[in-house]
Amino acid sequence: MSVKDNIEKLRKQVPQNVKIVAVSKFHSTDEIMEAYNDGQFYFGESRVQELEVKQPQLPQNIEWHFIGSLQRNKVRFIAPFVTLIHSLDSERLMREINNRAEQSNRIIPCLIQLHVANEETKSGFTPDEARAFLDSGNWKQYANVQLCGVMGMATYTDDKEQIRSEFKMIKSLFDEFKTKHFANEDSFREVSMGMSGDYPIAIEEGATIIRVGTLIFGER
Ligand SMILES: *Cc1c(COP(=O)(O)O)cnc(C)c1O
Repeated sequence: MSVKDNIEKLRKQVPQNVKIVAVSKFHSTDEIMEAYNDGQFYFGESRVQELEVKQPQLPQNIEWHFIGSLQRNKVRFIAPFVTLIHSLDSERLMREINNRAEQSNRIIPCLIQLHVANEETKSGFTPDEARAFLDSGNWKQYANVQLCGVMGMATYTDDKEQIRSEFKMIKSLFDEFKTKHFANEDSFREVSMGMSGDYPIAIEEGATIIRVGTLIFGER
């Protein structure tokens, strides 16, 4: 199956109101163009160096989502163009994104990355760290960053009930934060969860954005 066939098949399984981010890490600009020519405009990358090389070579109306763990010393390379950073995981990172956004005269939308999986290797705020971060109110001073919701990953497991309960946790944290801190902010509305192996469960549990690589582009 071609990239085009894969995307068209995926679109049939995903409700209109759920945004599909095509995760193109390790895939070529030709493969990205195949998706783009089929009407795919949102792409996700997880490494700054890779994104920095690809972005200038590809159509400028592509919306680039940064989904990988982001080092502060690399923020400046993506700040001029990135559409949404899914991986905000500390106040120090937020401060750096804010500074670089200001230099680019931009407001950069970001998602609070939550660590709910049962895996040490995954990054993000634990639920209590995220609560403390939002309760502190410190984030309000970073006027060039707009908090737009949450992102999370489920544990890599075959246990569907575990995956479901982790997605439920992400959605319930989103609801909690929305009520407590963003009730009047329409822009705080995104729940980014679900990948090739678990996106149907994520959609059932309230995802507004799914991040799909393998199902679109094949194995990396
Ligand atoms: C690679 C990656 C994905 C996509 O994974 P697939 O299983 O290939 O769909 C989604 N989210 C993040 C954060 C990733 O790093």
